[in-house]
Amino acid sequence: MVKDVIIIEESAHGIIPRGTWKYKNKDEGRNKFLMKLHEYQSKQIFAKYGIPIPKGRVAVTSGEAKQFAAELGGRTVVKAQVLVGGRGKAGGIRLAKSPSEAGDLATQIMAMKIKGLPVRKVLIDEAANIDKEIYLGITNDRTAKKPVMMSSSAGGIDIEEVAAVSPDKIIRVHVDPLLGLRDYQARDIAAGIDLPREHWRAFDSIAKGLWKAYTDTDASLAEINPLVITTDNRLIAVDGKMVLDDNALFRHPDLSEMRDLDVEETSEIEARKYGLSFIKLDGNIGCMVNGAGLAMTTMDIIKHFGGEPANFLDIGGGANAEKVAAALRIILSDKNVDAILFNVFGGITRGDEVARGILSALNEIQTDIPMITRLVGTNAEQGLQILSDANMITAETLADAAKQAVKIANA
Ligand code: GDP
Ligand code: MN
Repeated sequence: MVKDVIIIEESAHGIIPRGTWKYKNKDEGRNKFLMKLHEYQSKQIFAKYGIPIPKGRVAVTSGEAKQFAAELGGRTVVKAQVLVGGRGKAGGIRLAKSPSEAGDLATQIMAMKIKGLPVRKVLIDEAANIDKEIYLGITNDRTAKKPVMMSSSAGGIDIEEVAAVSPDKIIRVHVDPLLGLRDYQARDIAAGIDLPREHWRAFDSIAKGLWKAYTDTDASLAEINPLVITTDNRLIAVDGKMVLDDNALFRHPDLSEMRDLDVEETSEIEARKYGLSFIKLDGNIGCMVNGAGLAMTTMDIIKHFGGEPANFLDIGGGANAEKVAAALRIILSDKNVDAILFNVFGGITRGDEVARGILSALNEIQTDIPMITRLVGTNAEQGLQILSDANMITAETLADAAKQAVKIANA
């Protein structure tokens, strides 16, 4: 028997549910709590940390592509800028022998969708003459509770397969966040991937640069794949991928501007405008909750009773009528929603104010989606009275509210 939830204190923002719920478009490589950077953005950051990258520019038209290729001279590579991996295999990375070919390829690539994502920009890079492709990346190893640097001599487009089939070909070195990447660790990695000695010095500088880029930007992934050895014996980061932690973006206004709104859920952009923490999910029960912890609890309890949440939504503390109305509009814009569960703890947020917010939003929006409210805490009685006067469904406990919502949603 599930008891009602006791909230000890109003939760602040910033608690992030990870991996508990199914995310929409997961296959497209989007992760709700992370901000992916485009290749060209990642490589710009790499360059700041002394990692050699090819000369290149981003084009949004075929004319620009042609012009930039002409400026670079020689062979170029035309690269789709979309936030998914495997662009090469999908035909989104093409070599051009002349500026006009670069222009033509840009036209073709910008007409493509790669794993469902439209290509709006292409990077025109000086083509590298590749002798060997290496993998070098850093991410957090949650089990070890430390960042881990990984490298393999079998880099390039098949690294996932290498990781799956012959994991021994990948060298892993844990990095103490306080000490940073040590000289001997960079050497261990270079030796581990059988990198010829002549490249060790350059590799050391790249590995340390990547480590610094990773920590300075609060990244959760920084990856060079491939890091190539060119035929004239230089090391160059030909591809780049960085994923930043959303929660740390407030410390990086410059990086935060790099966000590509084109690829985000419009409802999430809208929510950010109103200061709401909103994450769209696959289910059909809309949730409007104050407090991140309570929002997670609400989702868990919906699941417990056999339902699927349509979203995570934290309206925050002290949410006023305007904010509640915005939240409701956002939830209702999701056509999958069959029922809405309001779970409000009146602490700073007053129950009567939330109730008025719900009603004022309903004045604006025509909907026949059933709504169930569970309201406790400050001014809960007034709030419930206001809602039941307006013929809304109310519930005594969270368990009761969730059961009602699931019953309606699954009907
Ligand atoms: P991804 O497929 O999304 O990982 O895109 P990459 O930028 O990694 O490119 C895929 C593959 O294209 C690389 O592994 C290389 O084999 C090849 N490639 C990319 N850039 C160049 C280049 O400048 N010259 C040559 N010869 N090949 C390249
Ligand atoms: Mn790559």
